[in-house]
Amino acid sequence: MGKRKSRPKTEPKKRMEKLESVFNCPFCNHEKSVNCNIDRKEMIGEVMCIICQERYSTAITNLSEPIDIYSEWIDECERVNEMDGEISPKSPPLTHHDSW
Ligand SMILES: [Zn+2]
Repeated sequence: MGKRKSRPKTEPKKRMEKLESVFNCPFCNHEKSVNCNIDRKEMIGEVMCIICQERYSTAITNLSEPIDIYSEWIDECERVNEMDGEISPKSPPLTHHDSW
């Protein structure tokens, strides 16, 4: 034994064609519920969760990929979260130290 057929050189390259364009939703935490649409004519990218209907759209460039729009959305979410944090500060409310 030992005469292996030399492998055909076709490496699995299919991934190149099918770029990941479904993502996990940061709002409802569903996996692969976020679809991405890229309108290269209007130069607008849009991601939308089919579960909670949360959506986000942004201007794109020729080089934009679904993942770019998605990660921008995530960034935006985090920014909003940070702002929320500022509005409701964690520091305890001023308490009057009445003798007790
Ligand atoms: Zn969702």
